[in-house]
Amino acid sequence: MTQVSPGRQATSLFQERFGSGPAVLVSAPGRVNLLGEHTDYNGGPVLPVALERRTVVAAGHADRWRAISTLDEMMREVSPERMEHGSWIAYLVGVMRVLGRKGLNPRGASVTVASSVPIGAGLSSSAALTVALARALTGLAGRKTPPEVLIDVAWEAEHDEVGVACGRMDQTVAALARPGHALLFETGSGGITHVPYDGKIWLFQTGVSHRLTGGQLNLRRKECEVALGLCREQGITVHALAEIGMEELPRLVRALPVPWSQRLRHIVTETDRTRRAARALAAGDSAQLGRLLVEGHESLRLDYQSSCAEADFLVEAAVRHGAWGARLTGAGWGGAVLALLPPEKEARIVAEVQEEFRRQFGRMPEVWATRAGGGVRSEK
Ligand code: ADP
Ligand code: MG
Repeated sequence: MTQVSPGRQATSLFQERFGSGPAVLVSAPGRVNLLGEHTDYNGGPVLPVALERRTVVAAGHADRWRAISTLDEMMREVSPERMEHGSWIAYLVGVMRVLGRKGLNPRGASVTVASSVPIGAGLSSSAALTVALARALTGLAGRKTPPEVLIDVAWEAEHDEVGVACGRMDQTVAALARPGHALLFETGSGGITHVPYDGKIWLFQTGVSHRLTGGQLNLRRKECEVALGLCREQGITVHALAEIGMEELPRLVRALPVPWSQRLRHIVTETDRTRRAARALAAGDSAQLGRLLVEGHESLRLDYQSSCAEADFLVEAAVRHGAWGARLTGAGWGGAVLALLPPEKEARIVAEVQEEFRRQFGRMPEVWATRAGGGVRSEK
C-alpha cells in the first residue's frame, strides 16, 4: 500500500501527462459483502459494506479520448468503436458506449485513474472503476446524473459490454452506500435498507486470485437454474431459488439429487441468514452476526463448494483465536476472508492467524481493516 492517497495520485498523474489540472475528480469505493453470497443472481438479499478504500477518476475536457491508470502508467488512445478485451480500457469503452447510447457522453476526455482498492481480490475494484467513470464523464458533459442512472450505466458497461455475468450488487453499493452503514439490498424486489454499522471489518487476503475461476462461477449459475427447474417439477411455483422458504427445504433436499440439492440448500439458508444478519447488525449483536458468518462459510465450503484451502484455514484459525466470526467473501475460490474481531483482542488474533498461515502456506497473508465508507462522490 502506497502512502499517497489515490486522489493525489490521480491529480498529479493528470497534471504530469495532460499539462493542466482535471475539471472533475470523482471517487467510488470497493466493497466487502458481509453476507449473502451467490444470492444476488437467485433473487435473494445481499449485505455489502463500502470500503474506505476507493478508486479515483480525474477527467478533463478534450476533443479525443485518452486514458492512463496508475496500474501501468501507459497512455492509451481510446475509441468507442474499439472494445479492448483483456485490458482495463474495456471498462472505459463499456462506460463510453452506454453513455453514448443514453446521450450522456462528453465529446472526448482526458482521464487518469488511481486506486487503493485491491484488484481482482473479490472486493469489486471493477464497479468502483465503472461507477466513478460514469459519474466523472457525465459530470464532464455538464450533467448531474442520479445514482440510479450511474448504477444502470456501470452495470450495463460491465455486463453487456465487458461481458461479465455480474449481478447489480457491486454497482449499487458503489453508488448508494452511506458512511457508517451496511446496505441490505433485496435483489428480487430492488428494496434497499441502510443498516447502521460502525464496527471494523478485518480482511485477510488469501493471495489466491479469483480470476481463474470464471468457469466455476458460470457452472454454479447453471446448476442453480437446473435446481430451480427440479424444484418446479416438485410443484414449487417460484421465479427464483431465493423465494423458496426454509419450511420447504427438507422435502426438496430429499427429492433433489446432488449437487443440485446442495446448491439449493445454500441459496435458501443463505437468504435466511442474510436477513437475520441484517437484524443482528441493527441490534448491535456482534456475537450473533459472527455465528451467522461462520454458518455462511460452512455453507459455501460444503454445499456451494466455492471455498479454497487458504480461506478455510483462515476462517478456522480466526474463530479458534477468538473472532466473533469469519467467512470467505466475494465470488469464491480465492479472494479475501472477512473477520469480525472483538477490539480488545484484535491485534493478538491478527498476529496469531498470520503466523499460522505463514507456517502452513509459506507466505504472510496481507491483513487490513476498514469501516463502512460512503458511495460515489465528487472530490472537489
Ligand atoms: P474485482 O472487481 O473483484 O477487483 P474484477 O476482475 O471484476 O475483480 O475487476 C478487475 C479489473 O478491473 C482489472 O483487471 C482491471 O481491468 C479493472 N480495474 C480495476 N481497478 C482498476 C484501476 N485502478 N485501474 C485500471 N483498471 C482497473
Ligand atoms: Mg468485479
